[in-house]
Formats: sequence, structure tokens, C-alpha cells
Amino acid sequence: MTADDTVQRDWAPQTKMVRGGTERSAFDETSEAIFLTSGYVYDSAEQAELAFKQKVDHFVYSRFGNPTVRMFERRLALIEGAEDARAMATGMAAVYAALACHLSAGDRLVASRAIFGSCQYICAELLPRFGIKTEFVDGSDLNQWKAALSKPAQAVFLESPSNPGLEMIDLPAVCALAHKAGALVVVDNVFATPVLQKPLTFGADVVVYSATKHIDGQGRCLGGAVLGSKEFIADKVTPFMRHTGPSLSPFNAWVLLKGLETLDLRVQRHCENALTIARTLEKQKGITRLLYPGLPSHPQHALAKAQMKAGGTVISFEVEGGKEAAFRILNRLKIIDISNNLGDAKSLICHPATTTHQRLSPEDRVHVGITEGFIRLSVGLEDVHDLIADLTQAFGT
Ligand SMILES: *Cc1c(COP(=O)(O)O)cnc(C)c1O
Repeated sequence: MTADDTVQRDWAPQTKMVRGGTERSAFDETSEAIFLTSGYVYDSAEQAELAFKQKVDHFVYSRFGNPTVRMFERRLALIEGAEDARAMATGMAAVYAALACHLSAGDRLVASRAIFGSCQYICAELLPRFGIKTEFVDGSDLNQWKAALSKPAQAVFLESPSNPGLEMIDLPAVCALAHKAGALVVVDNVFATPVLQKPLTFGADVVVYSATKHIDGQGRCLGGAVLGSKEFIADKVTPFMRHTGPSLSPFNAWVLLKGLETLDLRVQRHCENALTIARTLEKQKGITRLLYPGLPSHPQHALAKAQMKAGGTVISFEVEGGKEAAFRILNRLKIIDISNNLGDAKSLICHPATTTHQRLSPEDRVHVGITEGFIRLSVGLEDVHDLIADLTQAFGT
């Protein structure tokens, strides 16, 4: 931690988002500089030697570190309240790094069943190939967590709220059980964003983000991050990253730094729009099930309120008439785009069963509530009345 970090830790979140981690170059620029450089030069061979031994503070190679990427890492760590962070090229690189840097053959991983499709691949298929045993539990069922964590485990991986079922997991309860079993708790906090939920304050050890989503929030680039204690980042994540190379491009780090400046404003507006739309859709004919954590009708509304500052930016609902009806609604929309991305300024809608979650078996899909009529709506920053009008006409009412 630098002297600057100590001061900046006391700033309010909005100040951290705009100014945290900024390091000006000799030109005193207002906006953070983009250091598009793969390498660095040294004053002398002796300085190069010391830099490699980490005896002097000097960047060595952009796979290990870069000034623009470092600004992004420091800003995000300050916002999250984490001791340190490492940026990655994508959210999936971050999820994989967080687990792979820590687990070894013979270890047990306990994961919630309702996770992003690619996270499910890592936990269910990839890690088991290297001798890691994964056990899945229904995230909202504490008894299943208790049973799975009654034996020693090395890691817990979960997502809350989940994608796309918007299932909430009781973070303090699961973290306590996990720690008793000896497990490191890794939380994929993409849906909540650091604005709405701080898993570390509930006992989690590591937080991962797909920065592609709300942190960029404007559909421009991919990115990810792993956040945790100074030791975890230095001893586990940094060597993994240094030698396997999932590094974030400095240009993308700059885009994401700019995204962080407006994150609070944007997430608040996303949530306001989402709540208004969810309330409207609750009365919409043809919807058989509507899930929005910010509505009292959500089965875990109380937990959502305890863990999150607002209901989030995504609404999921099931329409009568299965896939055919769902496709008809998607195809009729004129403003809202069909896209599998989320957390974007533009409202985006998708049919998880045939896109993001098509690799799950039909049984697994039904188990996490992804039926043929299930639709996920990522609410954007457009005028909420325009969005409601678009949805209403798509329902044909
Ligand atoms: C998108 C997403 C990811 C993966 O992030 P990428 O940046 O697309 O690699 C992981 N977890 C969740 C919950 C996501 O929504």
C-alpha cells in the first residue's frame, strides 16, 4: 500500500470512483494516460537486475504490470475495500485465475449450481480434469451448504444474485460455514457490482468481476479483475498471472478506468429504471413468473435488502407459451436489443435457454429455473417510459 492509498481509503465511494489510484505522468494530464507499451527501459543493467528482484519499484513487462492497468487495479481495489487487485483480460480469465491459482489436485471445491455458463464449465469440467473435486449445491438452500461443507474444502465459488435466475445466497452464513471447512470464499459479484454489494464485508475472501459488464457499461471492451487480501494477490494471483498471461490490455484498462468514474451514477439509474419496469411487468398479462430482487414478490427479497443497496440492473421473467412466445416478444422489440451482454447503457434482452445457458443439460437448466419461456432483461439507461412502451407493444397489449 502506498501513502496515497492510505489517504484514498478514507474517501467516499464516489470520490474513489473518479480519482482513486490516479497517477499523473510528468505531463500533468487531467485524464489518466494510456501507456500502450509492452516493455520498459532501465537506466542501467544494475537497475534492471534490481527491478527483476523487486528491490526497486519499476515496471518490468506489461504481462506483469503496466501503469494504466495499475491505476485501474488500485481504483477498483479502493472502491471494493479490498487490499489489492489484479486486472485480467476478461471476467472468465479472472474467475479461472482466482480458482486455479489456489486449488491443487485432491482439493474440494463447493460451488453454487446457478452460476454463469462458463463458470459452470470451469467448475464442472475443467478443474476436475486436474484432480479437483467439485460439489454443486442449490445456493439458496443453507442445508445443502451445511452438508457439503461438513467435510474439509479448499474453495467455495458462488454468484449472488445469480445469472439469470437472480437467486440470492446468504453470504454471511455461507462464508461462516466455508471458513469452518477451511475454504477460501470466491464471490462472482458481477450482477451486484461494487456499488450495490460488498462481499468482503460479509466475510468473503476474494471477489471477481467481469469488468465487461457494468464497469465498462458501454459495450466497448472486455475485462476482469480478482480482488482480495494483499497476501492472496501477491502470493497466489500475481505469480499465476505473471506466468500464464491473462493480462488486461492497457487500452482496455483505460476504457475501464473511465467507466469506473461514472459507475455509481449509472448503476443507480439502471436500478431505478429496473425497479419501475419490474413493477410494471408484475401487472403484465402473459408473464407467469417475474424475478427482481428489489420487489417484495422476490422469494428472497429480505436477503436482497440485507445484502444489496438496491435490486440490481437485471430482471428475469417467464412468459406463457414457452420458446415460441419468448422469441416472438424478443423479435418484436424496437428499442431493446437482443444481446447476451448485460450491464450496458443500452437495454439488452436474451433467451438464456438457447444462448448463454444452452450448454447446460435440459435437467440442469430446469433445476436453476431456466425454462423455455424464460427471458433475461438487462435494463439500460434509456428513458424508462420508452422502455416500458417498447415492452408493452412487444407483448401485444
Ligand atoms: C459475463 C460474466 C462472466 C464472464 O465475463 P467475461 O468478461 O465475459 O469473460 C462471469 N460471471 C458472470 C456472472 C457474468 O455475467
